[in-house]
Amino acid sequence: MSELHLPNRIRQLAVEHPDRAAVSSGGTTLTYSEFDALTNRVASALATVPATSKRIGALLRMGLPGASSFVGCAKAGLVFTPLNWRLNPGEIADIADDAQLDVLIVEDEFAASARAAAAVLPAVQIVVVGDASAVPGARSWDDFVASGDDIDPGFGDDPRIEVLQLYTSGTTGRPKGVVATHHNLFNEPRNFALYEFTEDSVSLDALPLFHIAGAGWMSTTLSAGLHLVLLGEMRPNLVAAAISEHGITHAFLVPSVINMLVEMPDLSDYDLSTLRLVAYGASPITPTQLARAMDTLGCRFVQRYGMTETMGALTALRADDHDPHGSRSYLLRSAGSPLPGVEVDIRDIATGEPLPGGQTGEIVCRSRNNTSGYWRRDAENAALFTADGFLRTGDAGHIDSDGYLFVTDRVKDMIISGGENVYPIEVESVLSEHPAVAEVAVVGVPDDRWGEAVTAVVRVAPGASRPTEDELLQFTVERLASYKKPRHIHFVDELPRNASGKILKRTLRNEFAPVQEGTTP
Ligand code: ATP
Ligand code: MG
Repeated sequence: MSELHLPNRIRQLAVEHPDRAAVSSGGTTLTYSEFDALTNRVASALATVPATSKRIGALLRMGLPGASSFVGCAKAGLVFTPLNWRLNPGEIADIADDAQLDVLIVEDEFAASARAAAAVLPAVQIVVVGDASAVPGARSWDDFVASGDDIDPGFGDDPRIEVLQLYTSGTTGRPKGVVATHHNLFNEPRNFALYEFTEDSVSLDALPLFHIAGAGWMSTTLSAGLHLVLLGEMRPNLVAAAISEHGITHAFLVPSVINMLVEMPDLSDYDLSTLRLVAYGASPITPTQLARAMDTLGCRFVQRYGMTETMGALTALRADDHDPHGSRSYLLRSAGSPLPGVEVDIRDIATGEPLPGGQTGEIVCRSRNNTSGYWRRDAENAALFTADGFLRTGDAGHIDSDGYLFVTDRVKDMIISGGENVYPIEVESVLSEHPAVAEVAVVGVPDDRWGEAVTAVVRVAPGASRPTEDELLQFTVERLASYKKPRHIHFVDELPRNASGKILKRTLRNEFAPVQEGTTP
């Protein structure tokens, strides 16, 4: 048999386990045989559309149309390009234009964005899930799928062809289109052991389809032949309800949602007893938050560290390394060790030279999962790889003598205060241990005296009274070197986040930058 990849696995599972549940979404469940047939129809319908860029855009929540478009594109040899529907119509039109989409599949709730995309891309064919009249000239998804035959076009079998284009989260700048081949995307089955999957595992994917964690978790659990439950929104109460209703055993959750879930006052109303393992990642979690989540949810946890450019995890902190009360509890600060087939190294941030034992520098990695580059971004591509073929993550960190990686922070978020490097995550970890602090983000703002001043932005825990600035400062003074302690502390009701739940530090830096004299605020 040819090399294993997602469409091959679906075809194989449809033969070996035709009646096994494959995908559930919004009250519908399809077996592997039905999902294979549906994706054949989508693929054969897509194969008749004139394709120039080969990019098939999607403005879809996590659900059956999204899953079947993803696999349908792969079968048709087209590049599935899900877009972030949380962006505004103008931003979405920009990305649709960047990708030069041939087709855009949208849910009717995102019709305004589809119309904006059509205005800049007059040739784009629009297919609407729901009420097609919302977009002039659009076809309906049901008619589109019905126009296809249950015949697998089989155009997508070469493992080196491009199948997916995902935009980065846009945490540090404009989102960039990351291109992946089958070979980049497909996780080797030997990586599945990490999640302790068994044949009867039921997996929840409530992440956005346009995020690597969402698309990647879907690809991983379908490739493992599991029952995949899709949820269009990662709201904590919906997640808890889905776990109860479907007997979820495995879920991928992001730290902000894990925190909200354990804060839910009525959590005990839901039956979460089936949950065996929570995979988490995409942004940092503090050891305090992690230990609390482990106590509350009472299941196993696996951390993944990765990025769009690496098509998911490059390292993982295994379930057995999560031991908040044992002698290795310091590992809760670690992102774990490299997955099979991934090489991780640390390079000097200024010179790019390899850094020996334990020093902090830029994390770089080499693996078959790495993208070969961004779509139409020559300048960024020139800087993406080192001379010896390692991908620059843009994250800083170090590797300890046991081979565990500790992600310190993003290189771009590092604060240089009084000539010393301060990594915000370290300050955030200390402040989040204060009982009145629910969440905190630390950024550097321009400062005449220090160059940059360490600035903490705090959300107070529900029910707690707001501590004074002095009290929090005193708390950090006892636990941090003096140059790391915040110079300013601000309190907010909510921290600004992007669609992946990541805190937007560039927004905070702008918001809390001192007003320059002579300029209007
Ligand atoms: P952009 O590249 O557009 O600025 P982004 O980097 O947030 O956005 P993603 O590719 O979605 O876009 O996110 C990858 C980044 O998320 C990593 O580089 C890292 O900074 C962070 N990250 C992912 N997993 C973890 C983790 N387990 N611990 C800490 N940080 C993580
Ligand atoms: Mg990035």
